Amino acid sequence: MKKIVILGSTGSIGTQTLEVVRANGDLQVTGLAASSNIALLEKQIREFSPRIACVFEKQAARDLAVRVADLPVQVVSGMEGLVETAQEPSAELVLTAVVGMVGIRPTMAAMEAGKDIALANKETLVTAGHLITELAREKGVRILPVDSEHSAIFQVLHGERENPVSRILLTASGGPFRGRIREQLRDVQVEDALKHPSWTMGRKITIDSATMVNKGLEVMEAGWLFGVPLSQVEVVVQPQSVIHSMVEFADGAVLAQLGTPDMRLPIQYALYYPERRYLSGERLDFSALGQLTFEKPDMGTFRGLELAYQAGAMGGSLPTVFNAANEWAVARFLNREIGFLDIADSIEAAMNVHRVIPHPSVEQILETEREVREFLEESGKRKA
Ligand code: NDP
Ligand code: MG
Repeated sequence: MKKIVILGSTGSIGTQTLEVVRANGDLQVTGLAASSNIALLEKQIREFSPRIACVFEKQAARDLAVRVADLPVQVVSGMEGLVETAQEPSAELVLTAVVGMVGIRPTMAAMEAGKDIALANKETLVTAGHLITELAREKGVRILPVDSEHSAIFQVLHGERENPVSRILLTASGGPFRGRIREQLRDVQVEDALKHPSWTMGRKITIDSATMVNKGLEVMEAGWLFGVPLSQVEVVVQPQSVIHSMVEFADGAVLAQLGTPDMRLPIQYALYYPERRYLSGERLDFSALGQLTFEKPDMGTFRGLELAYQAGAMGGSLPTVFNAANEWAVARFLNREIGFLDIADSIEAAMNVHRVIPHPSVEQILETEREVREFLEESGKRKA
């Protein structure tokens, strides 16, 4: 039985991963991790019997330990616990579905221990892509994409490794505000931004989809995963979310992966790669679908996408600044402390003052994150 660890098991990707595990019946979960949702984590522990479970929040971890005292599971907490869970000795693969760059250390720790990574946590690759791709080569471990677009590209490239790629066509739904102009976005509320047209996901990525920062992060993610310059990664708005991404080869052939929007497919593909398993659910019905449409992204309105290209082209610590500013701003927006347009403005302001470090170490990446947060807190106070 293949043994796996799931970091972020109580979230949108984590719970869907456990659905895939449940449906297949031949994967063994040896480690689980969450931030604080111990009610759900306890249920997962009782159903899947992992050897180790991490709750990032210390008090919640103590509470969980009491609740599962009848079971042979080791309960750990904090970053140390997250790293220990990521390195659970018997696991072959670690699925990383925590949200944000807090994923850097556990992801790298899992790779150090020789484990393959099924990667949903794109913020980790965006900020530490140079370190992670090098570590993957050094340790001979795989990074299997879970993000639907990157899984699509990965599926298309299967068996095409030697063939030159001329463009990656990364599809985007355009989010809930597609077609609006900047002025119409000034007063949008959290509830409006949380209404995604095609996917049900965690709150942070749903806001990222509304700003199109998500697509910006994905452009950088594609650059690292497939080793292509960002000038060859093009975003195509495909509002029906049926084409999950495409690759254009040197001869002009364009190959795509299509399907209904269902994250269980890329999750399952990463868990069983290169094997395809049966997956329940709706199949595409082209006559019911009628048409597939395409648009150019509006980077004037959705500044976050444009800024991502700039950050990715410059590289070094600038993608960390982009990401850290976005993480800070999205949390403030969700708390109703700043407006929707302030998200991209915060990213731009933080990028403008940063002096780029060419090949940042993990410590420098985390230090840059702290500096960005401090800068944005301070400039927020000056405005107030
Ligand atoms: P959710 O917010 O739904 O879930 C996040 C998970 O991470 C929860 O289990 C949460 O625990 C846990 N978590 C957060 N912080 C920590 C921490 N410090 N230590 C341990 N666990 C932690 O997010 P999603 O599932 O939507 O997204 C996860 C990642 O996958 C993100 O990087 C996102 O961009 C990416 N992704 C998601 C997609 C989707 O469809 N949802 C699609 C493509 C990519 P708790 O419940 O206790 O808070
Ligand atoms: Mg995606």
